[in-house]
Amino acid sequence: MSAELTAPIMGINRHRLTTDGVGVTSLVAFHGCPLRCKYCFNNQCHDPNFKVKFVTPKQLVEQLAIDNLYFLATGGGVCFGGGEPLLYSEFIDEFCRVKPQQWKVTIETSLAVPRANIELVVPHIDQYLIDVKDCNPDIYQRYTGRDNAQMIENLRWLLSQEGMAEKIIMRLPLIPDFNTPDDRQRSRALLTEMGAIHFDEFNYKTHINA
Ligand code: SF4
Repeated sequence: MSAELTAPIMGINRHRLTTDGVGVTSLVAFHGCPLRCKYCFNNQCHDPNFKVKFVTPKQLVEQLAIDNLYFLATGGGVCFGGGEPLLYSEFIDEFCRVKPQQWKVTIETSLAVPRANIELVVPHIDQYLIDVKDCNPDIYQRYTGRDNAQMIENLRWLLSQEGMAEKIIMRLPLIPDFNTPDDRQRSRALLTEMGAIHFDEFNYKTHINA
């Protein structure tokens, strides 16, 4: 018998309004991330000793169903974040097959994962919040510890899908000591050329991880 499909959840944040998708949403934070951002806002996702809870897709649906009425009344649902939720795309695929159809699904992702992980969830996702950081490879490498070629290629592919640009918000931070308003403008120009139409520009706070 094959092992049951589960994923490590760091926490569930209920009753969020307009921060990550339309209506009332519950944010589900997955453990683990392939990047090492200097100002990681959720550093426990890298901590192997952090106490996660392993759940099956069905168990997660049951837990979130406590807010079913809020989701239905406001057009909300679930937002997958982390960590990097697309490390668990099989889990998300299965979750979306067993959840109530009306629940909307938003995902916060860096897209720093293999293309196959993205392809699996595309049929289910209503909105994408893409944590681009910066399109300049040197800035990205210095800030995240990783090359951005995979992220850029995944973005190109995603934006080439019919009607996809409408569903995507590109998150473009100003990162103290890493990029400048001009760098961000260059990222935005490149993304626009690739077909992106929605952007969220904001400033990171300056706390640095020890
Ligand atoms: S992508 Fe997000 S969770 Fe991952 S290291 Fe960067 S800030 Fe942290």
